[in-house]
Amino acid sequence: MSVSINLKKIQSTLPSSVKLVVVSKTHPVDTIMEVYNAGHRVFGENKAQELISKQPLLPNDIEWHFIGHLQTNKVKYIVPFINLIHSVESFKILKEINKEGCKNNRIVDCLLQFYIASEETKYGLSLEEAEEILNSDDYKKMSNVRVCGVMGMATFTDNKQQVSNEFNNLKQIFNKLKTKYFNSNKAFKEISMGMSDDYLVAIEQGSTIVRVGTAIFGSR
Ligand SMILES: *Cc1c(COP(=O)(O)O)cnc(C)c1O
Repeated sequence: MSVSINLKKIQSTLPSSVKLVVVSKTHPVDTIMEVYNAGHRVFGENKAQELISKQPLLPNDIEWHFIGHLQTNKVKYIVPFINLIHSVESFKILKEINKEGCKNNRIVDCLLQFYIASEETKYGLSLEEAEEILNSDDYKKMSNVRVCGVMGMATFTDNKQQVSNEFNNLKQIFNKLKTKYFNSNKAFKEISMGMSDDYLVAIEQGSTIVRVGTAIFGSR
């Protein structure tokens, strides 16, 4: 099936309040253009190097999201154009984003990535670690990052109940942080959860952003 048909199919299952990030990692510019030409403008990549090499070859009105593990030394390359960094998993990386945001005279939107899966391989903060960041004076002084919500990845399993519980856990984390740190902050509103195999479960649990690759492009 063509990618534009897959795109329409996915879109038809999404409530209008949920944003679709089309995950284009490993796919060439030509294939991305098929989705672009079908009218979609929001794309996500998980490797800085790959994003940096594709971005100049693609139209300027694409909204780029960074969704993968980010190394400190790559931050400076993506900050000038990135729309949302989903994967802030340490204070160190948030500080670097703030520093580069300052140099570029822009405020960079970020999500705090949480570890919600039962797999050792998934990155992310614990609630305690996130609170340590949010309570710190260093964080309070940051003027070039804006924390807009949370992100997480569920365990890779067929057990729908487990996946659902993990997404629910992320929603509870969001609620806690919202109440305690962002109550009057309208920007803190995003819950990025859900991929090709579990985005419908994620939406049931309150996802506001889903990140879908395989269901649009086919398997990588
Ligand atoms: C690859 C990736 C996705 C998309 O996964 P699919 O199963 O291909 O939809 C979503 N989020 C992150 C962080 C990814 O690395």
